[in-house]
Amino acid sequence: MQKTYDVIVIGGGIAGYSAALTLNSLKRSYLWLGTERFGRKLLSAEYVRNYPAVTGNGAAFARLLEAQCAREGIVFTPARVNGVYAGDPFTVTAGEQVYSGRAVILATGVESAGSLKGEEAFLGRGVSYCAVCDGALYRNKTIAAIVVGEEFAQEAEYLAGFAANVYAFCSYPNARFSASNIRVFSQRPLAVEGGMRVERLVTSAGPLAVDGVFLLKSSAPPAALCGGLETENGAVRTARDGSTNLAGLFAAGDVTGRPYQYVKAAGEGCMAAYAAHAYLQSKSCK
Ligand SMILES: Cc1cc2nc3c(=O)[nH]c(=O)nc-3n(C[C@H](O)[C@H](O)[C@H](O)COP(=O)(O)OP(=O)(O)OC[C@H]3O[C@@H](n4cnc5c(N)ncnc54)[C@H](O)[C@@H]3O)c2cc1C
Repeated sequence: MQKTYDVIVIGGGIAGYSAALTLNSLKRSYLWLGTERFGRKLLSAEYVRNYPAVTGNGAAFARLLEAQCAREGIVFTPARVNGVYAGDPFTVTAGEQVYSGRAVILATGVESAGSLKGEEAFLGRGVSYCAVCDGALYRNKTIAAIVVGEEFAQEAEYLAGFAANVYAFCSYPNARFSASNIRVFSQRPLAVEGGMRVERLVTSAGPLAVDGVFLLKSSAPPAALCGGLETENGAVRTARDGSTNLAGLFAAGDVTGRPYQYVKAAGEGCMAAYAAHAYLQSKSCK
């Protein structure tokens, strides 16, 4: 007989971890699934300056989480989920595997892989998706900002507060910035190149020397994972407790939208776990 868990948590990042940790302390049965424990984003952070009591790079942060994980007995199951089917219980599929849970917490982050050649290879070595997190690392440097929508223009302005030069590549017409050190390019960005770190952005008009490349975009496809799930600008629409339009389905972390920060993701993971617990209580599941 297949086991039905109280809650299935999808996403190995800090939002998913925080949800699993909270469910564990609430004595709920849970299954924590994800492609990678703690997630690539956390592991590749150059320096974490905005999470309480954490200093150092993402790998050091992950070591702290790992120790806590072992202490608390939190179990992670590697799996790439390809379907979440609402019902009572929910069915979650991961390749050949089929899991069953009375509630689900979606903590799948935002898709950071983009269309620039070399982008993933330089993640954490000059490629960033978060102006607020990494902008200060580029004080007086020259950076490229790939601005995928007008809504991200203010992040390029933010970067201009640190960098000497910001080369903006905007995928929308008539891009304008108020900072005088932002120069708008009409060429197409093609690839990120360098050695140990980013050294240049290759464009349709040739290479440009840069110290970093920021990809300012949001492309989470949670609605594709779970039919009927309401999203807004690609982010799952949630109430403050993480509940979504689907009863028993909760969301936490980057998947619910900006700001993309560890502390926000961890907080939301905890809130979603409490909300799932209350939901199960309301259904008389203990
Ligand atoms: C290089 C870099 C540096 C950063 N530095 C900082 C910083 O210093 N401070 C800060 O606050 N924030 C920083 N951020 C942002 C921070 O990483 C994110 O806000 C945070 O990781 C969000 O956590 P999350 O758990 O919501 O999502 P993620 O960390 O993205 O985790 C989601 C996980 O779910 C997995 N997943 C997705 N779909 C599926 C699926 N279908 N099945 C199974 N698993 C799936 C993903 O592969 C991923 O492992 C940085 C980001 C990057 C990229």
